[in-house]
Amino acid sequence: MGISTDFSVAIAGAGLSGLCLAQYLMRAGVDVHVYERDPSPFVRQQGYRIILDRHGLQALRESLPRPLYRLALTTGDEPGGQLRFTDSRLRDAFTITFKDEPHATRQVDRATLRSILMLGLDGRIHYGKPAVAVERGGPSGLRLRFTDGGSVAASVVVGADGVGSALRAQLMPDADPANTPMAGIYSRSPLRRNGESVIPGALRTSGVLAIADQPSRAFFFTSMRFGESPREAFARLAPGGYAPTGDDYVMWGLLLRQQEVPIGARGDLLALRDLAVRMSADFHPLIRRLVDTAELDTTVLNPFAAGRRPHRWAVPGATMMGDAVHVMPPFGAHGGNTALRDAALLGHRIVEALASGTPVQEAIARYQDEMVSYAFRAVDTAAGLMRRLTGAAAAPHWILTRVLPRLHRVTVPEA
Ligand SMILES: Cc1cc2nc3c(=O)[nH]c(=O)nc-3n(C[C@H](O)[C@H](O)[C@H](O)COP(=O)(O)OP(=O)(O)OC[C@H]3O[C@@H](n4cnc5c(N)ncnc54)[C@H](O)[C@@H]3O)c2cc1C
Repeated sequence: MGISTDFSVAIAGAGLSGLCLAQYLMRAGVDVHVYERDPSPFVRQQGYRIILDRHGLQALRESLPRPLYRLALTTGDEPGGQLRFTDSRLRDAFTITFKDEPHATRQVDRATLRSILMLGLDGRIHYGKPAVAVERGGPSGLRLRFTDGGSVAASVVVGADGVGSALRAQLMPDADPANTPMAGIYSRSPLRRNGESVIPGALRTSGVLAIADQPSRAFFFTSMRFGESPREAFARLAPGGYAPTGDDYVMWGLLLRQQEVPIGARGDLLALRDLAVRMSADFHPLIRRLVDTAELDTTVLNPFAAGRRPHRWAVPGATMMGDAVHVMPPFGAHGGNTALRDAALLGHRIVEALASGTPVQEAIARYQDEMVSYAFRAVDTAAGLMRRLTGAAAAPHWILTRVLPRLHRVTVPEA
């Protein structure tokens, strides 16, 4: 494609959306670089899985070279499955069944997906580069500045620096996310013990949200089974690429009120695990076993926040994507999918403008309008679901935990 050589894009943040946009632009021949705060790719454990919906999968399909998209699917879990809502003893209240189609929903390991998104971007991802500000001026139009005092020139700057974004206050003034009362302690546990799955056959393909009798307490778990071993699939489809893990696991999250987490426990893995053990004491024994066998270094506390609609984009030519704009509580599993959707849409709008000779700033404004519309619908839905499933509103909670489970048989015996 005949794209002008003096046009360049600088992205702050090598998370899901930043890497996806870099892939999209690189395939279209745009000069793109990604600047990441972490000193190297896998310093933090990102041990959880992510459910990709049709928007996330479509964004990956549009952004990645075909072998890399195939790699994401083949290392992912099998399509389909269910999301079950139960009481704390795993008695079914109701179940949502996902479409059993390859491109409808797919559970993938996040670290593997991130590894796939990095393939082919050699020399374009720069680690140990925390971004702090965007400056106007210079021949390209903008400069992205880092904490070390250095900066790079770029025609377009994209803030994809996640929920704690350093660029948000400057680029989207007055749109800091709102805190919510809820948080999750997330971790993962091995799927097999002594060669046997710890998850009974009845829940083999289910994600489960077990809602406790007391309001504002729930437990989520789901198993992640790699379709094909990442090591073998990478060797076949992306030789030389780094496949981070291959062992099947159960990802889980204990949902609780933020005020139940002592300040001192927030960065302390042992204290978080102990808290999870205490707070899950009344749940089904299967759940308690998951907490007891948690892999400590994958344990994290995630306070839930909800993004606020931006009313002003302050720096022309600079924009934002993903959690930096529209972080949302995890209910509905739309955060990462919306971030990937942003990346493919922004990539598409930029490339379309370059190809047609229309001003890129117009393309960015169009992206912002479209993104704010679908992303804040997702934020509102996620916040609403959180209130309905974990809030103290007496009627729905009573129906979920007392009435519906009594109508159903025991799913997993407690023995
Ligand atoms: C346990 C858990 C389970 C989840 N499951 C799902 C799911 O099933 N489905 C779903 O859709 N979503 C899910 N999500 C949400 C999803 O992970 C996020 O919405 C998604 O990662 C957001 O992508 P992003 O690119 O905006 O930000 P991130 O992926 O968070 O990436 C931001 C990047 O920016 C870097 N950074 C931060 N500050 C700076 C700076 N100043 N300069 C440069 N770089 C910086 C960070 O180090 C990071 O690499 C889950 C989240 C959690 C915690």
